Amino acid sequence: MEMITSASQAIALEEKYGAHNYHPLPVVLARGEGVFLWDVEGKRYYDFLSAYSAVNQGHCHPKIKDALIEQAGILTLTSRAFHNDVLGQFEKYLADYFGYDKVLPMNTGAEGVETAIKIARKWGYERKGVDENAAKIIVAEGNFHGRTTTIISFSNDKNARKNFGPYTAGFVRIPYNDVDALNRALEDEDVVAFLVEPIQGEAGVFVPDEGYLSKAKAACAGKNVLFIADEIQTGIARTGKMLAVDHENVRPDMLILGKAISGGFYPVSAVLADDAVMDVIKPGQHGSTYGGNPLGTKVAMAALEVVREEGLAENAERLGQIFRERMQRLVDKSELLTLVRGKGLLNAIVINDSPDSSTAWGICLKLAEKGLLAKPTHGNIIRFAPPLVMTAAQLAECCDIIEEVVTEFKK
Ligand SMILES: *Cc1c(COP(=O)(O)O)cnc(C)c1O
Repeated sequence: MEMITSASQAIALEEKYGAHNYHPLPVVLARGEGVFLWDVEGKRYYDFLSAYSAVNQGHCHPKIKDALIEQAGILTLTSRAFHNDVLGQFEKYLADYFGYDKVLPMNTGAEGVETAIKIARKWGYERKGVDENAAKIIVAEGNFHGRTTTIISFSNDKNARKNFGPYTAGFVRIPYNDVDALNRALEDEDVVAFLVEPIQGEAGVFVPDEGYLSKAKAACAGKNVLFIADEIQTGIARTGKMLAVDHENVRPDMLILGKAISGGFYPVSAVLADDAVMDVIKPGQHGSTYGGNPLGTKVAMAALEVVREEGLAENAERLGQIFRERMQRLVDKSELLTLVRGKGLLNAIVINDSPDSSTAWGICLKLAEKGLLAKPTHGNIIRFAPPLVMTAAQLAECCDIIEEVVTEFKK
């Protein structure tokens, strides 16, 4: 394998040999540690994306690394054809950690969502008494739950959907942050679940009104409908609590976790629910060869321990306040910015330009030049989500960089 020493060389290889399913910033990263990333030329950056909130614990966290290396020399994969001596420990650990009866482990976030959809449908037929093939799941406009054919079937992002049909039936889309719309949709007795992100991350860190989640949960409970929270991006301390639903003391009937559950080391996702829901799944009805393997589960337990030991939720809450205050002052004095919003360390600024403009992209290029990596979402929104191990001094430095770039930026 040839050594990659220049950015242009690495980009040229991806361009020629890789499918063009992403449009990355022209930065080629070669190393990470904590809140920092370094490119192939040795330039250091603050990471303000954290791999879409997968590396909340910071890059290459030593404790998670040790767990991975240790388990890699003991046992990595058995499949679920046999038991292994880590899986049960992991399931108990996760069930206790989040307060559910049972866990179903998978690998990627999209698989977690697919798992929740399958369980909800089966529960609907076998426990709620919905006629076979009639089950409906309510979802929100602007949702992002992954990239499988079923999941994109209920997206309203044209680019994500177009020419991937025929689409999976059985989903009803309603406006996000609209309890009345939810109540109307819940009148349909074939509805089995409401699948929702507590904050819409990909849509541009859209934070619903206070009370939305608790009212939505109560509305679902009143109609014997499962409230499913997709906390793949918002969970694991990102928003200043362990889960984003904790801000409203809501306990979902099904909880979907991914991304930072393994701190960026290894794909792990999981669905949590109580027995009355999870018990509808019987042998042969769902699974994955790698799901719940000893390597991933050891990594995930270490990653979750780090979140507690290092008080990452508290840090995210505290730094998030500081960040939004700083950004609000910038918004107030800059023509370029419309607003800042978010919770904990999941925040975004909205650029005062059309979603089709290249302004946000241009700002991100300038930020990269000055040593801070962020990525536009939906054209005119920039998400800011650094690792949660950041210090207040580092955050202040990052705010200085953002302020400098925004102040100097010419369209
Ligand atoms: C990232 C994400 C997913 C999909 O996870 P993958 O691991 O990329 O499949 C699903 N839901 C939400 C809210 C996400 O942010």
